[in-house]
Amino acid sequence: MNIVIVGAGAAGLMAAATAAAACREQPGESRVVVLEKNRKAGVKILMSGGTRCNITHDCGPAGIMEAFGRGGSFLRQALAILPPAAVVELFNSLGVATQVESTGKVFPSSNRSLDVRDALLRYTIEAGAEVKLGVTVKSIERDGERFLVRMDDGDMSADRVIVTSGGRSYPGCGTIGEGYGWMKSFGHSIVQTRPALVPLVGGEAWMHEISGVTLEHVCVNVWSVPEPGRKAEKRPLLSRPGGFLFTHLGYSGPTAMDVSGVITEAGDPTKTRLTLDLIPDKSAAEVESWFENSRQRDGRRKVVAAMMDWIPRRLAEAISLDAGAADSSFAELSRVALTKLSNHLKRLPLPVTGTRGFEKAEVTGGGVSLREVDPRTMQSRLVPGLFIAGEILDLDGWIGGYNFQSAFSTGYVAGQHAAKCSG
Ligand SMILES: Cc1cc2nc3c(=O)[nH]c(=O)nc-3n(C[C@H](O)[C@H](O)[C@H](O)COP(=O)(O)OP(=O)(O)OC[C@H]3O[C@@H](n4cnc5c(N)ncnc54)[C@H](O)[C@@H]3O)c2cc1C
Repeated sequence: MNIVIVGAGAAGLMAAATAAAACREQPGESRVVVLEKNRKAGVKILMSGGTRCNITHDCGPAGIMEAFGRGGSFLRQALAILPPAAVVELFNSLGVATQVESTGKVFPSSNRSLDVRDALLRYTIEAGAEVKLGVTVKSIERDGERFLVRMDDGDMSADRVIVTSGGRSYPGCGTIGEGYGWMKSFGHSIVQTRPALVPLVGGEAWMHEISGVTLEHVCVNVWSVPEPGRKAEKRPLLSRPGGFLFTHLGYSGPTAMDVSGVITEAGDPTKTRLTLDLIPDKSAAEVESWFENSRQRDGRRKVVAAMMDWIPRRLAEAISLDAGAADSSFAELSRVALTKLSNHLKRLPLPVTGTRGFEKAEVTGGGVSLREVDPRTMQSRLVPGLFIAGEILDLDGWIGGYNFQSAFSTGYVAGQHAAKCSG
């Protein structure tokens, strides 16, 4: 019994460890091999979370599913088998102590992604899997009931193949999307791939001038732009609370990146509109009446100084300048400027012209159609013996450890079942 796993990322290493452990419980000879084109395993684990590796999110399976939108229900069974708590327990048992941040993100207590990668690699090897580095898979073909995995340095025959070759994001790491071609050759449909969790390009000149300004607690809203003659939607398509960053090209930070997938899914940035709520804890009416009251009670106070109770100085100055209220006191504030300022604080329009593309996307949206994969086993519904897990699937979640959780859970289930169906 030969199981070949293509790609030694989070999904592939987890699949290999699980398959090798399950094979050891069964009678007969078996070999579990992971093939990885890079000279290092788990390159994305190493670079993840600013080299701190946000392993998972401190929530139940429902919280993980929510982060994947429409694709979330596909993960139900895999998360029932390996929920976030089990991932934390596994890493703790491998000697990686973890900490939960106030945002719910789970990191190794050492803040070193290397510790996570090393623990997972050790776990895989100790379970009995071989990890072959520096080997590029060129194609995977059916060979009767078996598979032929063609590599740059020869062929390998396999009873089962688990494809965990990732998506197209950060192609510099080796993830250039070769797996989609192999899946197509097996008859699988590929939902059009697009960058997700990617910084956005756009913004007014004054926004670029405040590049580097970070906001910790704001809310980005995405609205669909109505067809001509149709009414605007009353509710946003998506709202993401959290951190935000103005960049020299546009916007970044968790909220901007979280909403990027909705924008790329729409296919054309003019189909959506973005607004930034700088004071999510106050309603628009509360902000407006705060301005009115300040005008009456605090006429001599400078507007910028007052706004600094809520937002950083550089942003307060830029907003005031844009609203025509630079250096104004409340008493000097015109009605037009007052309305513009309160609109800016609650519904600041964020023009978007595009994204930084796959080069800077943390994950790939689209991928192998979920309809063609059994969510209980990760086995292809078209090709028996072929398993598919991780980012190559049409799954992309928010920032916060959700994507590794998905890779771990789907990889685990694929490994377990690839070994089980050996019969
Ligand atoms: C900068 C950055 C930071 C991130 N931070 C986080 C984070 O903190 N938390 C989080 O949850 N998610 C994070 N992500 C997302 C996360 O890294 C991915 O969701 C996750 O790595 C997907 O795992 P995977 O195993 O499916 O694919 P990958 O990790 O991409 O692994 C696929 C592997 O397959 C190999 N491969 C591809 N083609 C071939 C071939 N032809 N032959 C042999 N090998 C091949 C690749 O080299 C790669 O090693 C981050 C992503 C990036 C880019």
